[in-house]
Amino acid sequence: MSSSDTQDPKRRPDLDTVYSINPDGSRNFLQVAEVKGRWTTRRYFIFVLLIAVYLLAPWITVGGHPMVLIDLPHRAAYLMGASFTNQDFHLFFFVLIGLGIGLFVVTTVFGRVWCGFACPQTVFMEGVYRPLERLFEGRRIERMRRNKKGGPDKWIRKVVKHTAFLFLAWNLSIAFMCYFIPTRQMLRDIPFFHGDLTPLVWSMFWTAMLYFDYSWFREQTCLIICPYGRLQATLVDFDTIVIGYDERRGEPRHKGVETGGDCIDCQRCVEVCPTGIDIRNGLQMECIGCTNCIDACDEIMDKIGKPRGLIRFDSSRGFETGKSQLLRPRFFIYAAVILALCGLFVNRAAQRESFQVTILRSQGLPFTFQEGKIRNLYSMHLQNKSTQRRVYLLTAAPDALADCPGTDFIIPQDRIELDPLSDVPLTAFAEMPRTSYSQPENFSFTVTDSITGETQNIKVRFLGP
Ligand code: SF4
Ligand code: SF4
Repeated sequence: MSSSDTQDPKRRPDLDTVYSINPDGSRNFLQVAEVKGRWTTRRYFIFVLLIAVYLLAPWITVGGHPMVLIDLPHRAAYLMGASFTNQDFHLFFFVLIGLGIGLFVVTTVFGRVWCGFACPQTVFMEGVYRPLERLFEGRRIERMRRNKKGGPDKWIRKVVKHTAFLFLAWNLSIAFMCYFIPTRQMLRDIPFFHGDLTPLVWSMFWTAMLYFDYSWFREQTCLIICPYGRLQATLVDFDTIVIGYDERRGEPRHKGVETGGDCIDCQRCVEVCPTGIDIRNGLQMECIGCTNCIDACDEIMDKIGKPRGLIRFDSSRGFETGKSQLLRPRFFIYAAVILALCGLFVNRAAQRESFQVTILRSQGLPFTFQEGKIRNLYSMHLQNKSTQRRVYLLTAAPDALADCPGTDFIIPQDRIELDPLSDVPLTAFAEMPRTSYSQPENFSFTVTDSITGETQNIKVRFLGP
């Protein structure tokens, strides 16, 4: 029998060891009990909404483009109708920092609500995989009994369950890849991507990762891999709302209802915990704020006729003194930083030009001689950052090198048609008679969008001997 089938009935969660790992280093595969209650209902409602958002976001179009798409092959991105090119990459700095600090604010005030309610790991584990497992293998007691007993019934159910898990993982990997490959192309290309190895290998990789994660690794992702749980200790304080056990009310815990505190040591809060901890041991890094223990304990309190809320959302101060302070200086500082970042992002995004042109002096000799003239070569890069096809006109500025008689500009391609979000390299030459040259001169090339009239002047330098 594998370690995943067994649980040492005598072992209890403690603060010194990770309960889901046995003392000999093998995995103690948790058989999480089912729970019902007001928080579970709310969470399932949120899961349904979020699963719809996670799966549908790349399929919904805004302004003719996917609501979210990071089109890596074409070095472009679409977000809520706005388009971005690789030249706008700096804007993602604001987005990423803003999201990070946003998470800090939420954690400071409400603890790990992200982990318990919105993280894709939790949403798909608790909202899809765990219910599927119950469908194929039954409730906790049933699963444990069957795992112990063995036989064809156990293995047939496991094979069916794992087949379903694998199929689901493949679908999720495709859904995830739709954030990077346009959905129309994806529909056309799956399942074998016409032999194109890159997406094929990525789809197999993500299928394997998701299957491994949701079928076996599970809570270990939160405990071992995710860095956010470890950051928690630095983000929460005495006033952060966390899920905790009211020690003043619960202790001394006692098996009987008549004597001691309100906790009857029934272990329900431990059995329903997806990370295998005992919340009665205090705030722990392993707690992902899933609320299972709240609902489980409320159910017990209802049964023994005691008030609900022995395990509840409250701050450490609230548990100790009965008073909480939600808004405090740390919250306002973080919120101000987020607002500043949002403002900067909106400002920078609004100032973006619809096209970008860069002119670079060609590598090699700065100038050449040709039939008594000095020639400078300029390499350009023109990028259409808009989502429409555009025609651009490239000329030298009207006053370019006007003080140098006989100067000519040679622009092989002065009318450039560009598809949305595409770019093109260009070249241009400036030629000046040797007799007109006395010193390096600055001048400009002009690029004009023939539809909008938007113009950009790009300064360059003419060099000679
Ligand atoms: S569910 Fe409630 S009563 Fe039962 S052990 Fe946990 S805290 Fe005590
Ligand atoms: S302690 Fe409670 S809230 Fe925390 S992970 Fe376990 S069941 Fe969820």
